[in-house]
Amino acid sequence: MDRKDLVEMLVAERLLKSRKVIRAFGDVPRENFLPDGLRGLAYSDTPLPIPGGQTISAPHMVAVMSEYLDVEANHKILEIGAGSGYQAAILSKIALRGRVYTIEVVLELTDFAKKNLAGYKNVRVFSGDGSIGLPEYAPYDRIIATAGCPSIPRPWMDQLKEGGRIVAPVGGMYEQRLILVEKKDGKILETDLNFPCVFVPLRGLYGWR
Ligand code: SAH
Repeated sequence: MDRKDLVEMLVAERLLKSRKVIRAFGDVPRENFLPDGLRGLAYSDTPLPIPGGQTISAPHMVAVMSEYLDVEANHKILEIGAGSGYQAAILSKIALRGRVYTIEVVLELTDFAKKNLAGYKNVRVFSGDGSIGLPEYAPYDRIIATAGCPSIPRPWMDQLKEGGRIVAPVGGMYEQRLILVEKKDGKILETDLNFPCVFVPLRGLYGWR
């Protein structure tokens, strides 16, 4: 499989839907976000190991979360769990006139993501506990978590703009479901997207510690 085959497969599976997300997938070379020995597997639809005992999500997971996030070109986005930087790269290609802030708790991965994202001018990588969000740059139009949360951390809701959205895996340590949070008229609305998934656990103050 090459990039084009993977995109066609995800479209056929109805996981990739919108023109903007399809175009972003076509634009970002996933091999550049993998350790050297694994680059040959870049276009298999599977999660893969990255440094620090963490994983780069499977392409179908990135597709589904990016679709539900419904990013617009001028959006300011916060990602919790930079990992390889691949998800941030995809979002940066949709938010072409906006900005992506991504935060990572594992130091080795902050460096890995920074290196992989060097050419992406509208992405900034931070080191720290993203379970408390990133208050310095709040509020955000969109927040995405790529680590499994026990529940949606309060600070994320506070750092979300009116009309904003959060997409996050919520549940137990070893399995979660995708949850959509919307802020409407100051009220918080949580929807279960009915999509089971397995993410590494969210660490930190509002995570599994
Ligand atoms: N979005 C990444 C997937 C990374 S896996 C990609 O596209 O490659 C989830 C990441 O969340 C891991 O790297 C893990 O270290 C990180 N993480 C876990 N808890 C965190 C926290 N509290 N703050 C920031 N990052 C966290």
